[in-house]
Amino acid sequence: MDTATPQGPGLESREIGWHFLQLPGPTNIPSRIRNAMDKPAIDQRGKQFARLALKLFGGMKRVFKTRGGEIFIYPSSGTGAGEAALVNTLSAGDKILMFDSGWFSLLWIKMARQFGLSVEVMENDWRRAPDPEAIEARLAEDKHHAIKAVFVVHNETSTGVAARIPEIRQALDDAGHPALYIVDTISSLASMDFRMDEWGIDVAIGGSQKGLMLPPGLSFNAVSEKARRVSEHASLPKCYWDWRWHRECEHTGFFPYTPAINLFYGLEESLKMLLREEGLENVFNRHARLGEATRRAVGAWGLETVCREAREHSDSITAVLVPEGHDADRFRSVVLDRFNMALGGGLQRFAGKAFRIGHMGDVNDLMLSATLSGVEMGMDLTQMPHTPGGAAAAERYLALGE
Ligand code: PLP
Repeated sequence: MDTATPQGPGLESREIGWHFLQLPGPTNIPSRIRNAMDKPAIDQRGKQFARLALKLFGGMKRVFKTRGGEIFIYPSSGTGAGEAALVNTLSAGDKILMFDSGWFSLLWIKMARQFGLSVEVMENDWRRAPDPEAIEARLAEDKHHAIKAVFVVHNETSTGVAARIPEIRQALDDAGHPALYIVDTISSLASMDFRMDEWGIDVAIGGSQKGLMLPPGLSFNAVSEKARRVSEHASLPKCYWDWRWHRECEHTGFFPYTPAINLFYGLEESLKMLLREEGLENVFNRHARLGEATRRAVGAWGLETVCREAREHSDSITAVLVPEGHDADRFRSVVLDRFNMALGGGLQRFAGKAFRIGHMGDVNDLMLSATLSGVEMGMDLTQMPHTPGGAAAAERYLALGE
């Protein structure tokens, strides 16, 4: 007779069923997208590829919600598109206003310093988004317009805090400040609403491995007419990322280097799912429901999210603080070994203190319910103090909206 208990060693590390990849990126890649990429290579200078590329530029305009903006597609992770945003718009010594409000915000600060930009940093405790009022006040002081760009991360993937992007636009306008508005949408694009034109964004930065449900390897810039004009005088060194090199791609479908052809097939399928089948607004509503359900679970467990402010909660990732004296990384490792589920870890100041639940991309109600059950069972197994019933609270919300 098998005497192993349900928690017994016999069940550990067994990879039965599917792996629950509940990270805030990379996210699950639907099988139809994987299948769509399973194609032979084609001539990247042939008509067939050009047709595909032109279609994708059009689709990405819809994803960024821009009519007149230019789209650039790079074969890189999101960091590359961030570098492209900086080197195409700024010159050495230019002042840029940035925010130390999370791990990814810090990434951009480090990058900007490395390029010799004069970085002015506004800090917070990483539990809030950049404050539009403080931004307005700072910009209003900058009478001679020394600040050339304001760089904001829309959805801080390390904390689950979402910046109020339209309010920051308003802050720039109210201060009458001409700085470029650069926004990292890497973990919000195609999962949380983003409106390039309506919100007056000058450069948006995107990546493939999050809401677009693709493997890592494609990144994007969406660029306003104003940013395009500024870029003509921007003198930071660049070559591979130079918008001037790529400008024609959007019209010809040909790239100045070998494009990531198979990822393009994947993007074609992803855009079909997002734009034609589900519809972007439904995609955002689905993420909003999943986000709310997750927060209800966290509340019912008696735990706290890293995000302190209700109107700044991310809908695609929830970071949960573990009770004092408990180790979030040990908890995650138990969940992985026991339930074959990957959760995100706390980064930098939240290392060991928080874990992150990704509910981004190809996720439905039952996948989230299972995820939250896995989290709750993991808390039982690691004796992490919590009130039982969080997963049930989320399920009730998902089923009945209450
Ligand atoms: N910015 C944000 C908000 C991110 O979530 C990430 C990655 O997770 C990055 C930047 C860096 O992108 P990548 O890892 O694709 O280079």
